[in-house]
Amino acid sequence: DGTGLETGAATPMMAQFLEIKGRHPDALLFYRMGDFYEMFFEDAEAAAAALDIALTKRGQHLGRDIPMCGVPVATADSYLLQLIRKGFRVAVAEQLEDPAEAKKRGSKSVVKRDVVRLVTPGTLTEEALLEARRANFLCAWGGRGGEGALAWADISTGAFGVKPCGISGLGAELARLAPRELLVCDELEREVGGLAREAGVPMTPLPRAAFDGGARRVQGWFGVATLDGWGAFGRPEVAAMAALLDYLDLTQKGARPHLSPPVREGEGEVVEIDAATRASLELTRALGGGRAGSLLGCIDRTVTAGGARLLEARIAAPSRRLEVIAGRVDAVEALVERPSLTREVREALRGAPDMDRALSRLALDRGGPRDLGALRDALRAAERVAGLLGPEALPGVLAGAGLVGPEGLAGLLDEALVAAPPTLARDGGFVAAGFAGDLDEARRLRDEGRAVIAAMQAEYAAETGVGSLKIRHNGTLGYVVEVTAAQAEKLKRPPFDAVFHHRQTTGSAVRFATQALSETEARLLNAAGEALAIERRIFGELRGAVLAEAEGLARVAAALAEVDVAAALADLALAEGWTRPVLDGSRAFRVTGGRHPVVEAALRREGKAFVANDCDLSERPVRLLTGPNMGGKSTYLRQAALLAVLAQAGSYVPAQRLEMGLVSRLFSRVGASDDLARGRSTFMVEMVETAAILTQADDRSLVLLDEIGRGTATWDGLSIAWAVLEHLEGVNRCRAIFATHYHELATLAASLPGAGNAHVAVADWEGEVVFLHEVREGAADRSYGVQVAKLAGLPPKVVARARAVLRGLEARAREGGPRTLEEELPLFARGVEAEPAREPSAVEERLRAVRADDLSPREALALVYELKGLL
Ligand code: ADP
Repeated sequence: DGTGLETGAATPMMAQFLEIKGRHPDALLFYRMGDFYEMFFEDAEAAAAALDIALTKRGQHLGRDIPMCGVPVATADSYLLQLIRKGFRVAVAEQLEDPAEAKKRGSKSVVKRDVVRLVTPGTLTEEALLEARRANFLCAWGGRGGEGALAWADISTGAFGVKPCGISGLGAELARLAPRELLVCDELEREVGGLAREAGVPMTPLPRAAFDGGARRVQGWFGVATLDGWGAFGRPEVAAMAALLDYLDLTQKGARPHLSPPVREGEGEVVEIDAATRASLELTRALGGGRAGSLLGCIDRTVTAGGARLLEARIAAPSRRLEVIAGRVDAVEALVERPSLTREVREALRGAPDMDRALSRLALDRGGPRDLGALRDALRAAERVAGLLGPEALPGVLAGAGLVGPEGLAGLLDEALVAAPPTLARDGGFVAAGFAGDLDEARRLRDEGRAVIAAMQAEYAAETGVGSLKIRHNGTLGYVVEVTAAQAEKLKRPPFDAVFHHRQTTGSAVRFATQALSETEARLLNAAGEALAIERRIFGELRGAVLAEAEGLARVAAALAEVDVAAALADLALAEGWTRPVLDGSRAFRVTGGRHPVVEAALRREGKAFVANDCDLSERPVRLLTGPNMGGKSTYLRQAALLAVLAQAGSYVPAQRLEMGLVSRLFSRVGASDDLARGRSTFMVEMVETAAILTQADDRSLVLLDEIGRGTATWDGLSIAWAVLEHLEGVNRCRAIFATHYHELATLAASLPGAGNAHVAVADWEGEVVFLHEVREGAADRSYGVQVAKLAGLPPKVVARARAVLRGLEARAREGGPRTLEEELPLFARGVEAEPAREPSAVEERLRAVRADDLSPREALALVYELKGLL
């Protein structure tokens, strides 16, 4: 635009920039100038550093240089992504009129601009900015004291949910949903800040008023008179939803993403899994942070993005309702029983585009012809799948699966669009021939014009006798006749000068215009312009037709995802020999031949076999598991949890048989991690987490504890482990597996009615320990710590000494007398620890080498003399 930043005082453009920036102080302002988004002042400095692009200057403001940097509009997405990842928010200010309009108002006039969108991590919709197989949640939490609610929405898919959630439960929910942004009332910023940081979720404070919209705010968004039809929402839930919707209006500047009606998740609907348990079980992410190595990464065979997102949601939040689980697993079973149908269904689904995200982009007017094409292709895939599944009554979730799209829409898109439509509507070329008569006509004229022009070249060449005469298109002159300088003289003379008008001479060519050529060109341009206008109009109409059916399309998308998940789990079950779990409301937990799917897959890659194990917690719900390190204890513990998660997610399970009463909560403390960053020792973290389990676990919980009390002095550790075991058995009455290397606890476990012993078996082969990875009933006869230490490469001298100390300790423990607690714990028998470590003496060495039975009386006498000599 004509106005720059050259002068010292604020130019009109700078004034506009500062005014817009003033309204968006906490965002980087992308200020549209032609083909670039430019940033100024501190924004430019911050963005240049974050993006590693050049920082330059543009004019002055109040006597100082204005720092500036810019990114091309065409590639802005990738820069946006980097900025969002680095924690920035970006306000995108577009030109709202043609620069020519501004010029008409006067030379000083600035092009109208304003922010059309605030880009934040929780409100992304562009394909390039999103992970296809993961949801992109925006959350809003509102609450006071123990009361509260969390709302979540993914505007890239339309998912919208809400649940009661006090601040004590917030950490667990953030770990489950892994939102990209959390909205909280600014008064609660401090209270929630720590939790959000811990979960790695950027927090956006909003004024209290945003939470005060009430039911009317939510009703207004959805155009309904009451929310009662969708559930009994409490006040905090309504407040959280209202704040979330408010923020969408704020960031989308009035453009409305398509959201499904809110789904209320009541208390007790899904298995409660706290953040530490979730991390330790590596349900949807491995400890490193990625999907690979997690349970989800190991079992995900879905072939569509929507299916992948649904499976992640299922694994992240397994259900606690028998009928819900049955609905899911019935569908899996139906497909397991028909392997060839499963294969065909998966083939039909493969490559079906992401309907949810295409729909969301179209709703926000960020979509293009390609998104229309995606909907068309997905609708066709849905029809094929519906055809394969057939008209018979289908079981479970498949029964309700509405795979049939809105009447006529697929046909309309089929007729209207070319096979592979372009991303942008801007340049046209996406409406199929035969769809619109006026478009076909405009295109014919345009193409005819091109053909006429091509024909004119031959005509002119023949008439003038200049065989090398060419008609070329030139950016500024349009279509021109081009000849060499030598031949140009001929055209400049009669009779040709009447037809050919000289326009330009360059080093190599002379260019002429002709009347006929200009007229044809004008007709051609007109026709091309008209064709484009018609295409854009048709795009708008198709978009309107799609949005009018948004609900129905969202239903088809949901149905496709359901079928994909069921077929993927069936495929997995068939390939891996998984079985349908038997679930009820009891407290049973009976596994026959259970496997840990992730460890099994890892072992298989090394060519090793996994040893399947049984587990029965039904009679004695608390199981003490002893055995050496590396014996397979943690694997066994996690396996129990993963079986429960898979079963309640609605999957088959890696076991010959699993009978299980539904699990309400899952607690797992396996492989405790240090939390030194927060200044808490391993021991402290472990105790805090153990305290949480002992106060929260109910009789439907499944608790997995590994080596409680390891981080402190042995005496303390054993005592704590002892008391925890008693509490789990007597007070919590939950199902629990408790792994420990304190063999002393085995006697305790044997004496409690609700507890029992198990151990991981090892074989002793010529003094070497061999891990069998087999879990057996009863306590281990001995521990193998010293052997394992030897395997690990401890110096032989240290190993030998450890053996000697161990023998001494065991001998003392066997000495008679009434057994006190102290004697139950021989490690602490007084005096043992005081024994100084020393080298064996020469006499001892010599004696050790003697085979007494082989000595003759004479040799024995000689030995006595020899030993005396060594003293
Ligand atoms: P612990 O917790 O007793 O130290 P882990 O559970 O970490 O032992 O297991 C140690 C290793 O043993 C694992 O990395 C795995 O490779 C192997 N392992 C564990 N359980 C089994 C099993 N059931 N079958 C085969 N290998 C196993």
